[in-house]
Amino acid sequence: MYAPQGVKTNANMAVPDTMRAWVLGDPGELRFTQKPVPAPRRAEVLVRIDAVAICATDLEVIAHGTPALVDGGLPFNKSWTPGHEYMGTIAALGPGVDEFSIGDRVTVEIHAGCGQCKRCRMGMYTSCLNYGDTRKGHRANGFTTDGGFAEYAVNNINTLIPIADSMSDAEATLVVTAGTAMYGLTELGGLIAGESLVVMGPGPIGLLGVAVAKALGAAPVFLTGTRQARLDKGLALGADHIVNVTQEDAVETVRRLNGGKGVDYVLECSGASDAINAAGRMLNRGGKLCLAAFPHEPVLVDVAHLVRNNIYVYGIRGEGRSATHRAEAFMRAKRFDARTIHTHTFALEELPQALRYARDRIEDAIKVVVKTR
Ligand SMILES: [Zn+2]
Ligand SMILES: [Zn+2]
Repeated sequence: MYAPQGVKTNANMAVPDTMRAWVLGDPGELRFTQKPVPAPRRAEVLVRIDAVAICATDLEVIAHGTPALVDGGLPFNKSWTPGHEYMGTIAALGPGVDEFSIGDRVTVEIHAGCGQCKRCRMGMYTSCLNYGDTRKGHRANGFTTDGGFAEYAVNNINTLIPIADSMSDAEATLVVTAGTAMYGLTELGGLIAGESLVVMGPGPIGLLGVAVAKALGAAPVFLTGTRQARLDKGLALGADHIVNVTQEDAVETVRRLNGGKGVDYVLECSGASDAINAAGRMLNRGGKLCLAAFPHEPVLVDVAHLVRNNIYVYGIRGEGRSATHRAEAFMRAKRFDARTIHTHTFALEELPQALRYARDRIEDAIKVVVKTR
């Protein structure tokens, strides 16, 4: 009987003692097993996971074994569960939690900052100075703490976003993706109505970056990439121009279509090694570039071009400054249809197949969702 001390449960949503969960052993080695249902602490809840989407970073984390994307790595236990883009229903409340009720449907952000460091105090909790330090309350579920390829997970209340009944489970998993794009646009200044923007790379963040930028009023919005089917999705999500870089020179095309002076902003979501230099040449003087993806090798950058042209360069990590709440508000108001990037659905026990679809882009897979229930 699940009854951790001080934790509130409800007979209508009985919680078992153990749950089905995927855990990562050695790199690339996922096991489907039973493990204890975790207990929420102060300011935390237990979420029954209803759906979880697969992200490119999940593929990295699973392939490389250590909680990835943390400089220096972290101690790693072999019962750790990856997965970070999930949603579900609140099943238990930690001691003192009255901000949410059992039965509430929520989607989640990845990062709970420590709440006490300088960056957390600025709203930059994805850049928490105590990153990975669970003793200080930091969580990055699916990166440094247990994630969502399981039936239950613990979340800090600051990472919960209530969702409308009309939003499906699968659509709700996309809030954090749209929220990441929203965070990038927030860091670029947020007030982008009437300003020109290029999104580089039609992956999930890039595609929803187009949608969010249009909802914020940016115009014109360009989308560049190599895969025509994905560029066409960008058109459906509101892009004013798409540029297939296998057929035309992106810098030349963007400048020509925008009056020859270049654009105000670039949101770089491709991770291509030449992207930063191309972006620098798409921007006008004083323009701003936000890097939301990265190449795996160091790249040569034409710094002189950036300096001479007063170009601002930002890097974002994840979904800070409550951007997911703004993204969810747009989705709730049907300002764009994120569902267009959800292509495939699998059951929790089929996770390896789901990961293969996402990695190898089988049948043009973009966002693959695993339904836990
Ligand atoms: Zn992700
Ligand atoms: Zn912090």
